[in-house]
Amino acid sequence: MERERALSELKSRFVSMASHEFRTPLSALLSSAALAQQYLERGEASKTIKHIEKIKASVKNLNDILNDFLSLDKLEQGGVQMSITRFDLREFAEGICEEMENFIKPGQDISMSFDGPVDIDQDQHILRNVLINLLSNASKYSGEEKIQLVVAATPDSVSIRVIDKGIGIPEHQQQHIFGRFFRADNTSNIQGTGLGLNIVKRYVELMKGSIAFKSELGVGTTFHIELPRA
Ligand code: ADP
Repeated sequence: MERERALSELKSRFVSMASHEFRTPLSALLSSAALAQQYLERGEASKTIKHIEKIKASVKNLNDILNDFLSLDKLEQGGVQMSITRFDLREFAEGICEEMENFIKPGQDISMSFDGPVDIDQDQHILRNVLINLLSNASKYSGEEKIQLVVAATPDSVSIRVIDKGIGIPEHQQQHIFGRFFRADNTSNIQGTGLGLNIVKRYVELMKGSIAFKSELGVGTTFHIELPRA
């Protein structure tokens, strides 16, 4: 009963937060679609492309919110099944960086470095969700700065760092950032739900790993994950 009540409270909180968070990307979508059409009719290719980029960013934003909610719902219901396979972590990380290239802000750049043995036995879907979440945050909370994904594997474990030179997290709020719905007070004009890191932490725990971070206001943030390789 207690669990049911907590879940239903979470859902109603999510619905009110999501309807608020959906409005901005939806109206951005609508106006960009109208503008893209106008520019296309006038044959202005570069402006058309700019608005198509905005449409992609808005759709990604909506998709991220929905994915986070579905992940959280599954985690709450205890329905996350791990599906462990052996894969090449280097290829996997390169693929994620390539995918993210489509979504980072203009002027940003993602670079990846890899060191050590490449095979890992983990849940690809969960690890992907974790890395996309951290890289999306690195992009969202930075300007035209470099984002780095640094992977170093040893025979037993893998260390993954996502490094940005963005706005940072105020020190007095750092202890709360894995809390559900928590957003630091320097994010007021940046959209978000405060769910991503809560999910990331729980996913990392499912993978039997750990997560930590270092952040300085106005200097940048590094998230550091350690995972067993098998
Ligand atoms: P959201 O980004 O939707 O607000 P998250 O759970 O992903 O939610 O992050 C929680 C909060 O942690 C953010 O609102 C922000 O204050 C802070 N945060 C997370 N990642 C970063 C980062 N890379 N740089 C600065 N602040 C961050």
